[in-house]
Amino acid sequence: MSQEKRRQKAKFRILKKNKIWVTTIFCLAVTLLAMVFISVFASSLFTYYANKVILDEYDAISYMARIYDINSVEEGDNIFNMLNEEGRTYYITDNHGDIIYINGDNTMGTSKGIVELPTIQFDGTTVNEKVLVYVDNATEGLLETDEDGNVSISAKSVLSWLYSVDQRANINFDTERSTADLPIWISVNVKGGTQKFFGKAIFRVSMTDIMFLGAFLLAGMLLVVCVIFLMIANMITTMLGQRRITNAFFTDPVTKDKNWMWFCYKGEQILKKRKNASRQFVILDLVFVRYRNYCVCHSVSEGEDFLCQVNKIVKKNLKKQELCTHYASANFAVLLEFSDKESLEKRISEIISQLEKIDSEHKFTFHVGVFFVERRINPKNKKFAGRKDINIEREYNNACTARSTLEGNDDSGIAYFDTELVEEQKWIDMVQENQRQAVENEEFVIHYQPKYDPKNNELRGVEALIRWDSPNFGFKAPTTFIPIFEKNGFIPEIDHYMIRHVARAQKAWLDAGYKCVPASVNVSRAHFIEKDLAEQIRDDVDSEGAPHELIEIELTESAFFDDKKTMIETICKLKEYGFQVSMDDFGAGYSSLNSLKDMPLDVLKLDAGFFSGDFDDNRGEIVVSDTIKLAKNLNMVTVAEGVEFKEQVEFLAEQGCDMIQGYFYARPMPADEYILKMERTKAENEIINPES
Ligand code: C2E
Ligand code: MG
Ligand code: MG
Repeated sequence: MSQEKRRQKAKFRILKKNKIWVTTIFCLAVTLLAMVFISVFASSLFTYYANKVILDEYDAISYMARIYDINSVEEGDNIFNMLNEEGRTYYITDNHGDIIYINGDNTMGTSKGIVELPTIQFDGTTVNEKVLVYVDNATEGLLETDEDGNVSISAKSVLSWLYSVDQRANINFDTERSTADLPIWISVNVKGGTQKFFGKAIFRVSMTDIMFLGAFLLAGMLLVVCVIFLMIANMITTMLGQRRITNAFFTDPVTKDKNWMWFCYKGEQILKKRKNASRQFVILDLVFVRYRNYCVCHSVSEGEDFLCQVNKIVKKNLKKQELCTHYASANFAVLLEFSDKESLEKRISEIISQLEKIDSEHKFTFHVGVFFVERRINPKNKKFAGRKDINIEREYNNACTARSTLEGNDDSGIAYFDTELVEEQKWIDMVQENQRQAVENEEFVIHYQPKYDPKNNELRGVEALIRWDSPNFGFKAPTTFIPIFEKNGFIPEIDHYMIRHVARAQKAWLDAGYKCVPASVNVSRAHFIEKDLAEQIRDDVDSEGAPHELIEIELTESAFFDDKKTMIETICKLKEYGFQVSMDDFGAGYSSLNSLKDMPLDVLKLDAGFFSGDFDDNRGEIVVSDTIKLAKNLNMVTVAEGVEFKEQVEFLAEQGCDMIQGYFYARPMPADEYILKMERTKAENEIINPES
């Protein structure tokens, strides 16, 4: 998986992750924590309050207990008088829990008239002991001191005590002072732990205190509610923000509709998760041809409006689970479901015809590349199985490859992807990768095809034709790589390479005493847009020291349709420098009679197409003979290409054709073979063979 793809998947994963859950869990956790905090805080506050309220009472009871503890009962009623003076109800129990004194009166261990207190919990300690107390028939609470004689009252103990106090409890409300007195027993261990002193204390709760506490708690709770509210608000903002980011991530800046990312994401979902694996899908690359021209003639914003309309129209034609999105430039990616190829083609044609008529005044052109998304067959049950290895980008790329075969077509059309296209694409990539290295390593070799005068069979000229002798992929004909160089912009380099090498060879042969004839070199039409092309060619030839009249420049007919003015200027300059200029492949493709009128050319090369097929046909002969006449009238030399038969040579000789280049005479051949076809000059012959 490419790094880009991995990055994209990671982005999808982030978007897919529903952050709302994280926020919700976080919110819940904070709420829980806040609640725990509130209860701990409330409990501590209440404990502090309870302790504060009970402390004086406790001091009074423990003072009484100490009086009883340090004095001996045998000393008479003095102790009890002292205790009674305190004005509190108290009783003392023995180590069996039986009451031995109530308010100084010896009960002799009786329990008559005593009520049972419920079991009460203090500080989490269970007081299991059933304390029997005679106190105004009321059930009241009990506080026990610990081993050190200290009493500690917690919120929990107070609450459980309040809870345990039943209806009969002596709770006195003082409405004037706004207080409530709650009776509570405090027990203190005395006499070395063998007895317990129980004193009745009053737990006085002030309404002001309670209100203050309540207000304090309320404020705390309000604070927590505020925090929770803020968190929920934050959660909603996050959600909205996330939705906005997701929308931006999946929005196309041109159509303001869903974008390519969304197409990949949704498309893969549809194709991977289709329940019925027998459902068939295609991916289309739909392109509005000459979008750039449209933008130049109108404006970029009008161009974008046009793309919006295209998007709208295509989308109108979609069914459920079908997608369309703007990809880039004027390309749209479309996912369609289909049952058979015929109905699919009909449907695509219908969409194209709707698009062509967007504007009633113009007819627009649309090219569509179609890629059939393969289905898998389960080898076990031979049924269609779902596919997990869907890669929308790859599938769309295949549709683009199919669409690219329509490039150059002026009419709308549909092209289907097949595996040959992949091989073609691989070859194009390979050529592109190797081209520069090939020039550096001089892998391009020149073959020469002689041109003969049909009247006397004399060598009159030669055409230099390129071949690629590659160590990587063998010997290749120019038709396999020249069109690729023309498209990828490498052709000027090749043309210069050829001109320099041909000039070098001509110079070498001249120096070696051969009777050299003009060698023609093909210069691609793509190269002809350069304004200083004539100067470049002149410099190439001069750098090798070859005479200009031994170099001829061949231009293909289609080149004459480009920038006519520049072309005429270049031809004139080339002629001025002494080069011959010829029109190659005359008669192939478009009619170029008009070009003949304007271009001051030296040579006219009749296309091989004139001589292929049924040449005996009278009409063909008329065309050829009249073309030769026309060229002659224009003072042009004529060359017939692709001549393979004797009758053709005889006919052309009769018509006055100046030269013939074809298999009848010779095929293109390597330089060493061509040398054998050239004559030595007289002087050279004399030097080589002085006796002859
Ligand atoms: P072209 O310039 O029209 O070259 C003539 C082509 O016709 C050559 O094919 C040649 O081998 C072929 N031919 C010649 N006589 C016959 C015949 O009797 N019968 C048949 N069937 N074919 C014949 P080649 O060498 O494959 O070149 C093909 C084309 O590639 C050339 O067409 C030219 O357009 C282009 N090309 C070749 N070399 C170069 C070059 O160095 N630079 C550029 N820019 N293009 C080149
Ligand atoms: Mg040629
Ligand atoms: Mg030709």
